[in-house]
Amino acid sequence: MRIDSVKGYLEELGFIGVRDVLDHRAERAAKENWSYLEFLGHLLEDEVAAKRHRSLETRTRLARMPRDKTLDSFDFEAQPGVDEKLIRELATLSFIDRADNVCFLGPPGVGKTHLALAMATRALEEGYTAYFTTLDRLVSDLSKAERDGTLERRFRTYLKPRVLVLDEMGYLPLKPEGANILFQLVSRRYERGSILLTSNKSYGDWAGFLGDSIIAAAILDRLLHHSVTVNIRGDSYRTRNRRKAGLDRPPPAKGV
Ligand code: ADP
Ligand code: MG
Repeated sequence: MRIDSVKGYLEELGFIGVRDVLDHRAERAAKENWSYLEFLGHLLEDEVAAKRHRSLETRTRLARMPRDKTLDSFDFEAQPGVDEKLIRELATLSFIDRADNVCFLGPPGVGKTHLALAMATRALEEGYTAYFTTLDRLVSDLSKAERDGTLERRFRTYLKPRVLVLDEMGYLPLKPEGANILFQLVSRRYERGSILLTSNKSYGDWAGFLGDSIIAAAILDRLLHHSVTVNIRGDSYRTRNRRKAGLDRPPPAKGV
């Protein structure tokens, strides 16, 4: 049997991972006297690893999220307002299997988006699907789809992923149609798929940016029924680093 024919069969079967390492593996097997079983085992291992890698790449591309916000790059010491134990517990991802939501609340710059993305990145690593958007982008996308008569189809983008990151709730006030779209989304994901959201507003202030206290109550009711809230207090990481670098000078003394 020629190695080229074997590679041809592997390609026909879609075993691209094995095809690419076959020369190298066959050489090592001969050199190290691998048993048939060992040889086969290593080849299958290579194929599984290549397949997982391709799946991760595809899911990461579809998730449309920045790739640099991970738990490893989050400095817990710099942000004592974050409950590290709770974050580590969330990182086990059991909340995804229960379709629970996680809400990161706090002032600007404390790491809400970073942590939400870090959780979604963990989810991608563990084989789940995810999607990242801001509330503003979600509402304008779905409003447009409603006008075009493609709302149902467009909704799938936000319903299918196991984890939906909904960033920046509360920065901009919503029009009534926006609040209605958010209500539909939260209801349809309720008990089906997790939402990771970030907001600079405490729940009591949601009626304000949603423009309607009844719809705010209906949204919060479903959102919070199975959920964990991560409240983050503290200084903005951005201004903290500026201060450390001595970029912010104290204001001049009075009378100068
Ligand atoms: P928020 O969403 O709360 O406004 P971000 O998560 O966007 O804040 O954080 C602002 C910037 O600071 C981002 O670049 C983020 O990666 C970084 N950052 C915030 N907190 C930390 C931290 N504890 N460790 C490392 N980087 C951080
Ligand atoms: Mg943010």
